[in-house]
Amino acid sequence: MAGGKNGRHAANIINFGSLNIDKVYRVDEFVRPGETKTAAQYMINCGGKGLNQSIALSRAGCRVFHAGLCGFDGDMLIAKLNENGVDTCYLKRAEDPSGHAVIEVNDAGENRILLYGGTNLGLTKELVDSALTDFCSVGGLALVQNETNLVDYIIERGKELGLMTALNAAPYNPRVNSYPLDKLDFLIVNEIEGAGISGKDSPEEILRELAGRLPNTGVLLTLGRHGSAYFAKGKLYTCGAFEVNAVDTTAAGDTFTGYFLYAMLAGLGADKALLQASAASAIAVTRPGAADSVPHRVEALSAMENGSLGPVKPYQGGKPE
Ligand code: ADP
Repeated sequence: MAGGKNGRHAANIINFGSLNIDKVYRVDEFVRPGETKTAAQYMINCGGKGLNQSIALSRAGCRVFHAGLCGFDGDMLIAKLNENGVDTCYLKRAEDPSGHAVIEVNDAGENRILLYGGTNLGLTKELVDSALTDFCSVGGLALVQNETNLVDYIIERGKELGLMTALNAAPYNPRVNSYPLDKLDFLIVNEIEGAGISGKDSPEEILRELAGRLPNTGVLLTLGRHGSAYFAKGKLYTCGAFEVNAVDTTAAGDTFTGYFLYAMLAGLGADKALLQASAASAIAVTRPGAADSVPHRVEALSAMENGSLGPVKPYQGGKPE
């Protein structure tokens, strides 16, 4: 058994998540075909939905194991996870490059992103089996997003081994529809992903369709500043968003996922889970950056208690009959 896993915890999560090295270049205008341009500024950040969600889960209060692969260049990714209390005993190294993105940001604030999946797409069944089997001695939930390979296999195996399972179906592509969604305890989608899976447009229809198709799965639909809804076992829970001055909504959904799953695993109930996740995401959108914008649990809860976020707005997403 891997080290560092003694003691019981209410919310244990193994996250088979993507890890990216984001290389950001400031340019006046995007590079044109055939042109060579010198960038005015260069920044390198850790990213990937998997990394953001591991950090959000950890800051929300979970015990998190980040599983999967990183490349020869992955030292900074491992360091970032470890600094945030994420256990990397199931994160293996490969000789290939890690997932990375080359991002141009122009003077108009637009971006252009070239993404290379790298080791995010190199997961093997052996690696998954070994991590999941070992994690069973801890027990808890296996989480995946749609930025790695073997998503379907991880869900199937997780369920077979008696773990709870969750998928954040982001980013959406038609492959998601072939995943064993009925084996999920939690399906987490925003409006675009929900529409892609359900083939419906409005939040009401998306929820009705997914709830009908997946009667044993809790479906969480986030709707940006319009709030969020969770449908499980025939019951609908909704929550509005907090009225804040949003400066960067990157990682809003990742923050929400982290706080929502913590609260559900800790037995706080769906109403509290939505409210705490909404508060934490509202704080995250007031700050620039991705994982670094996720608040720690004490900050999110004290902002709710001392009223600094203001009142939560009414839910604006409509309800299925
Ligand atoms: P994603 O980042 O996956 O697209 P959303 O945009 O739906 O996810 O945002 C997730 C949650 O973050 C929302 O349900 C809401 O609680 C919160 N949120 C997002 N944008 C805002 C905003 N502008 N103001 C307040 N809360 C927000």
